This record gives sequence, C-alpha cells and structure tokens, in this order.
Amino acid sequence: MYLFNGLKEQLQSYLDASQVEKIQQAYIFARDAHDGQLRSSGDPYITHPVAVANILATLHLDAQTIMAALMHDVIEDCEVTRDDIVSQFGERVAALVEGVTKLTQIKFRSRKEAQAENFRKMMMAMVEDLRVVLIKLADRLHNMRTLGSLNTEKRTRIAKETMEIYAPIANRLGMFAMRGELEDLGFAAQYPMRCRVIKAEVKKARGNRKEIINSISNNILQRLNAEGIDAEISGREKSVFSIYKKMQAKVGVFDQVMDVYGFRVVTDTEDSCYRILGQLHNLYRPVPGRFKDYMAIPKTNGYQSLHTTLKGPHGLHIEVQIRTTEMDQMAENGVAAHWLYKGASEANRAEVKAREWMSNLMELQQNTGDSIEFIESVKVDLFPDEVYIFTPNGNIIELPKNATPVDFAYAIHTDVGNSCIACKVDSKIVSLSGPLTNGQTVEIITAPGAKPNPGWLSFVITSKARTNIRHFIKNLRRDDAINLGRRLLEKSLGNRPLDSIDQSHFDKVTKETHKESFDDILAEIGLGQTASVIIAHRLEPSIEDVIKKHKDSNRPLAIKGTEGMMIEYAKCCHPIPGDSIVGTISSGGGFILHQQDCRNIAEHSSKLDKYVPVQWEKNVEGVFRVNLKVEVVNRHGVLAKMTNLIADEGVNIVNIDIDMNDGATNITTFLIELTGRLQLANLIRKIRVFNFVIKVSRNR
Ligand code: MN
Repeated sequence: MYLFNGLKEQLQSYLDASQVEKIQQAYIFARDAHDGQLRSSGDPYITHPVAVANILATLHLDAQTIMAALMHDVIEDCEVTRDDIVSQFGERVAALVEGVTKLTQIKFRSRKEAQAENFRKMMMAMVEDLRVVLIKLADRLHNMRTLGSLNTEKRTRIAKETMEIYAPIANRLGMFAMRGELEDLGFAAQYPMRCRVIKAEVKKARGNRKEIINSISNNILQRLNAEGIDAEISGREKSVFSIYKKMQAKVGVFDQVMDVYGFRVVTDTEDSCYRILGQLHNLYRPVPGRFKDYMAIPKTNGYQSLHTTLKGPHGLHIEVQIRTTEMDQMAENGVAAHWLYKGASEANRAEVKAREWMSNLMELQQNTGDSIEFIESVKVDLFPDEVYIFTPNGNIIELPKNATPVDFAYAIHTDVGNSCIACKVDSKIVSLSGPLTNGQTVEIITAPGAKPNPGWLSFVITSKARTNIRHFIKNLRRDDAINLGRRLLEKSLGNRPLDSIDQSHFDKVTKETHKESFDDILAEIGLGQTASVIIAHRLEPSIEDVIKKHKDSNRPLAIKGTEGMMIEYAKCCHPIPGDSIVGTISSGGGFILHQQDCRNIAEHSSKLDKYVPVQWEKNVEGVFRVNLKVEVVNRHGVLAKMTNLIADEGVNIVNIDIDMNDGATNITTFLIELTGRLQLANLIRKIRVFNFVIKVSRNR
C-alpha cells in the first residue's frame, strides 16, 4: 500500500473521500493484476501505472481518469477483460482503459510509416473521449522519463515516435509543459551527445545570464510599478531542444541563440496586458515586425498571449510574452487546464478549440471515408512545421516549413534540382528563393546544362538540397583551381603555354609525384599547396633554365575577372578593374585581391612571401562589387529615385544600408555591381547632380 500513499495525498487535495476510496480499489485491482511483473528497471510493474496516475493527478483530472490510468495496462498485459472492469468500476472507466489499450496497440514506426488507418484510429479514439489521449500522453511521459533501462534500439524507436507523434499531439492540445518535457527527453534519447554538449553550454552561460536577467527584470518592474500596474515577471530559460532547433533552423551558433533573453510578464486583466506592452515599447525600442497579438487572435490550439521583441541594453534581444494569469495556466496545460482550474473560466479556450477541432475531424471522417485524404488533412493541423506541395501531376511532396522551390526541385530529383532555372507556383513565375506554402502546385522549369548557383545555399533549408549544391561547388572549385594552377605554371615556365609541351613530360611528372592525373597537380598549384616553380623544374630539368625563365616571367599575374571562386575580391576595399591591386594568399588557398592602399593590407608588406604582385588584364570580364556612399537630404521618395537612377545605368544593386544621421539627412550605402572604374565614374557624376544629394563617394 505504501506505493499508493503519495498519490493518495495528492488526490485528497482535490477529490472527496468517496472518490479517493474508489481510486484505492482500482489501485489494489491493478496491483494484484500486475503481481509478479517487473519493469525493465527491475521495479515492480505497478510503480508505472501509479506514476502515470500521479502525473494526471497533478493536473487534477477526475476520478474516472485516475482509475483508468491505474489500470491502463491490465487488459494489455494481464488476464483481465473489459467485462471484469465494467463489473467493478463501471462502463466509463472500462471504456477509457479500452481506449488506451487500443492506442497502445498502434505502433507508429515514424510519421511517414504511420499507416493512415492506424492514425485515423488514434484520432478517433481521441475524438470519442479526450481523456484517453491524456492518459496516453501521461503514460508516454513516464515511459520517456524511465527510458534509461531499455536497450538502445527500443529507446531510439520510442524516442522517435514520441517526437513525431506524441509531442505534436500535446502541442495541438495546447499542453506546452507536456510537449516541452516530451521533446527534451526525446531529443536526449535520440541525440545523447548533442544534448550533452548543449546542456553543458547552457550551464556555462547561466551565470552571466542571471545577472542580465535580474537587471532587465528590475528595470521592467520599476517602470510598471511607477505606472501603477501590478504584474509578475520571470526570466524564461529555453529548453535544450528548442535551442537545438533554433541552431539548426538558422542561426547555427550557440552564442547567437543564447543572446536572446526570454521574459514572461503575467498580470490580472487583458487591459493590463496592453498597457504593459505600451510601457515596454516605451522603455526599450521594439524590433519591427516582431509584435504578435495572439490575444485578439488566438493560435489554433487556443494559446493566447502578446509577443514582442525589444532591443535591450547592450543591443541584447529581449523576447517578452505578456498574458493574464488564466492565459498563462492555459498555455502550460492546454486542454488539461479544464480540470485543473475548474472555477477559473466558464469556457476554457483551449478546450473549446480542441472540441472544435475534434468535431471538424469527425465531420471530415464522415465526408471523406478515405483514410489517406483524412490523414493528410489531419497532418496539416498536427504538424504545422511542414508544408504539403503538389507536383503538376498531383503528387504530394512533404517539405519542412519555409522550404523553397529549390528544395522542392531537389526533393523531386537531384537532376531536377541541379538544372532548375525558374519555377511556376500556381501557374505564375516566381522567384526560386521564396518560401512555399501549403497546397501550392509547383512546376520546376529546368534547362539542359544549367548549373546550381552557390547563392542558393543562403536560402535552401533541406539537407538534400544543401548537400547536392555543396557537392557541386566542390567540383566547381576544383575546375577553377586547375585553371589558376595552369596559368601559374605557365608563368613559371617563362609564359610558355602548356600546350606546347609534349604529353610525355606531363605523364612522367604525374608518375613521379604519385598523382592520378596532371590536373591533380595543377589543382594543387592553384590551391597554393605546391609551388609552381618546383613542377616547372620537373618539366624542364635544367635548373638554370627554370630560374632564368622564372625571373623573366617575374611580371605580375594578370587578373582576367573570370577566375571564378579561386579569386576573392576583398570585402574591405572592393577592388575593381582600374584600381592598383595586390594579392594575398588566403588560408584556404587561392587569392584575395585588395587595393594596394587598403588599410588591411598594410601588415602584409612585412610578409612578402604572402604577397603576390598582380595586375588587371587589358580586357577584364565580369562584374565587380563596390560600396557607394551617398549622403542625401531626408525626403520622401529620394531613395526610390536614386535606385531608379542606378538601375538606369545598368548597374545592379546588391544591398542597401541606410544610416539615419540626425533625421534631416541620411547616409545610404549601396552595394552595387559594375564592370570597372569607368562605369563607376559615370554613375557618380550622374548621382552628384541629382537634387538632395549632399555627398557621394566610393566607400572603403
Ligand atoms: Mn503504460
């Protein structure tokens, strides 16, 4: 009986004595049924149902649910029938136990493999009685907490199922606390190493953060007190899994993810929430586009809150959630809040939303009669992180949220991705980089001989697209390296074209250096891994000859503008044809070109070995980037006129950066692409005569 005591105390806090007595009978029934059974951990089996009941008791679930939780495994694992339960505990409790048993028998290997029919069964069980799913979620939570004693294979399978099926369901029901714990446990089981690393980093960062959090909290509280607003504020620590997700999604660097500070302000009324928002926007500058009013327009799972992001002291990002006490409880427990805070609200919004959703499911189920169609509709609801895109002939491709047409192209086939040049979304031509949304029909236009653009890496989000583009660039880089290597070698041979040398010499050197092809050698020269003069010497055995020729050829390497990725134009000084330039060898091989008087190159004069004389070829091809700084009077429409003027010159604008000076004037920096100094001079002349322009100069 001692195993029941803790639970009993919890139950007595919110149920009357007769109900607790009935629950005790259910405990004895389950204990006897599981007698002699052990969990993998070696504990008596009954400890598991008791723990599950405990989780539900903290949510104040009713007596029937707690009884069913205690007996949830007896039909599955013991020789107990539904009728046995009906006769002792009544029809409702038996139905709950049966419902959980049915769910347990459905094994989801993964979201993809989840058979439409099984999934439908699960949804229907949930629609019939929400409490079945609550018991199942509590069951899963306890199993996840005690995952350690299982073997690796079973552990991984259960963790995956949890991440893909149960956590999203908890989310859909608005149970954020449950979802958060399921996700963190699932992540730890699936990726123990990654989890450990992030946890250690979080621990390290915690000390510094505490101080910052306290000081920001105090600032906010002081301001609210001064305004006579009553509120509680708490700093939120991100869950390990959400940090991991953020790092994967975009930022990539732990420090950047951790630079964001989360706060929650809880107050009494909706009116106070909006007043607090006003005060916060007055205290710190809000980040544009980050304010969300989920209070006026709740999320589909009923979640309500105001969200905003502020620029705090030292440029830190402060994310704030503002909501009422009731909304806060709802946000933590979702539909379960119905039992937990009975008096709190007539209509629990999360529950109303859940019921709405379920009656929709019911209707959908009756109308479709087709489980595939049903599951597709439900999945869109349940996994909002995914989008479903149609191919022109009606196949569905599942992609992560924010996937682009390029991701879609690679999802169809690597060849389609590699050769795509444009796309039509719902019959309209759109950019390859824009995010796709649910239900769009996408047609990819390919061209023979088209190549992936390295720039795609900045927006693709699927690993398939990323890997394929990277692979392509690697090969591209090699081609460029070979070309540069050839020119360096020709230079060392006294500007003698390699074509004039007999193939047998190349074969000999290739063999001597244990390379597979002479191209390998050229690539190494291009990458700066082998000195061209050494290979020149091997090709031309007379050492005096080589040295002499090398001297003769000691004129600068000519830059054609077509070297591709082997030559990088320094971003500090943006050299363009016509500028005096100098080359340095980068750590990864290849050249970086600077203007000769660039500040960053000054130190290189002391390291002459890293310094390569270069000059522009007569006819340089391609376009080059330059920063153009324009100071203008702040007038409506000035920016539009300037961009038109630049575009009219046939100059491409890559980026615009506006620095609001004092409000009266501003400095706009255009990153533009042009062919050389001549075009730049023309452009500057045109801009200079434009009204409102105070100053225009090339920026370095
Ligand atoms: Mn169980």
